[in-house]
Amino acid sequence: MVSEPDDRFKALVVATILDSQPEKALTLLSKHFRVEEPKLSVGVVKGHSKGVRAVYSASRKEILAVRREYLYDPHTILHEFYHHLRQFAGKHRGTEKHADLFAISFINAYNHSASRSELGSGERAEG
Ligand SMILES: [Zn+2]
Repeated sequence: MVSEPDDRFKALVVATILDSQPEKALTLLSKHFRVEEPKLSVGVVKGHSKGVRAVYSASRKEILAVRREYLYDPHTILHEFYHHLRQFAGKHRGTEKHADLFAISFINAYNHSASRSELGSGERAEG
């Protein structure tokens, strides 16, 4: 099993998606978890639930965002990457809850690092 990524890595992945480079973020993630990179495109898969922003197609190994703007949404990309990752674990695609928790752990790491750098330019406590 591959180790859990550290917060610096998680923050970098989120920042890369926010920087409109979701393909690059998927490359980072795929290298870390040592899996094949998923494809990424905009489209609609038959039978997908209403209201979802993206779906993961296991047969195509592809993340399909319903709209282009969702490609730049870290939660959406990370949620779908989790389903991709689970394919390689040889099990089922994982629960929606776990996909959300996976995404949230990356976003939290990013939020923490963002607030840390803000503090860095201001007053700084010793020790
Ligand atoms: Zn899902």
